[in-house]
Amino acid sequence: MVDFTSIKSRFHLPEGVTYLDGNSLGPLPVAATDRMAQVMQDEWGEMLITGWNKAGWMAQPGVLGDRIGRLIGAEEGHVMLGDTLSIKVYQALAAALSLRPDRRVILSDTGNFPTDLYMAEGLIKTLGQTHELRCVPPEEVENSITDEVAVLMLTEVDYRTGRRHDMARLTRKAHETGSLAIWDLAHSAGALPVDVAGGQADFAVGCTYKFLNGGPGAPAFVYVAPRHTEATAPALSGWLGHAAPFEFERTYRAAPGVARMRVGTPPVLAMASLEAALDIWDGIEMAQVYARAQALSERLIAGVEAACPMLTLASPRDPDQRGSQVSFRFEHGYEAMQACIAHGVIGDFRAPDIMRFGITPLYLDEGDIDRAIAVITKVMAQKLWDDDKYRHRSAVT
Ligand SMILES: *Cc1c(COP(=O)(O)O)cnc(C)c1O
Repeated sequence: MVDFTSIKSRFHLPEGVTYLDGNSLGPLPVAATDRMAQVMQDEWGEMLITGWNKAGWMAQPGVLGDRIGRLIGAEEGHVMLGDTLSIKVYQALAAALSLRPDRRVILSDTGNFPTDLYMAEGLIKTLGQTHELRCVPPEEVENSITDEVAVLMLTEVDYRTGRRHDMARLTRKAHETGSLAIWDLAHSAGALPVDVAGGQADFAVGCTYKFLNGGPGAPAFVYVAPRHTEATAPALSGWLGHAAPFEFERTYRAAPGVARMRVGTPPVLAMASLEAALDIWDGIEMAQVYARAQALSERLIAGVEAACPMLTLASPRDPDQRGSQVSFRFEHGYEAMQACIAHGVIGDFRAPDIMRFGITPLYLDEGDIDRAIAVITKVMAQKLWDDDKYRHRSAVT
């Protein structure tokens, strides 16, 4: 059994705050501060440029990639870190499209995170408008996988509602019709059991600053199925994805394996805090984390529904159909969330009307959920949200 109490103590959580937004930005692992200072002082400070070799900076994107690989069921040596998730979406999509040159449709769903769709639009433009981005409602995805589809590009867990796609089933359907499947694991990695190898995903991408707690701006990851790596033509053919970067050859030759998905210089400092965050995952089974997230989610739903009839559950009621978040709809959701935050319960708001609460058992327990229920109840019952000071919209909601 995972000792969740001792794991919670490995995170810094500000006094008086109940944090239900780890699905957007995980909290600070206590060890990350020292690890970061060590990398800055002992490695950057003392080793200077020799740190690339001596401290293993250059190998780190693959080393940490494999540690994430364990959490998403990837084969060893097939996950690479770097850049941001938007970039990794672009790379995976470009690679997948070039593996299906006779097909023209990218299929996604209308609930997908905008950047994934924006990157697809941009890529289509770059390719000369030869492709079509087809977005259907999530529940129509399965029946829309036809032999026109080059690539099925989905986010497993919907960022607004927490609704979960059946990755294995949809991937199987895609393969039956000759399509490839790209899975965005932004709200899956570190949240629930993922099996990219068993589920036959062709490509997978995700970020490390949400459920994996790598810190703001921590690098993204990309998985390429072993059967595709050697045929994958990198669209972003940067020098660190070259077979021999320090030969400084005139033309590009892709590195063997997933290393070809590297682009430029890796973010060494950001990887330091991510490394400290990944230490916490050692020995933790994702099934246990997800089971506890489901129990905590049920507790939150029951408590809120009992006390706040004005909030409507936007997440699936069946725990197995949800990721690790609970969302409610409320017309004045933005103001209500600001009021919750002012009273010590941090969740977030997603337009147009979603109040979103991330359920992260590494550092949340029943007491936190009960505190959250009490504050949400107070904000709603006393209409605390109905105040001018909660109406101002900041850049990040
Ligand atoms: C959070 C998230 C992103 C963010 O992309 P960045 O490039 O890291 O800013 C992209 N896609 C999905 C599905 C997300 O949930």
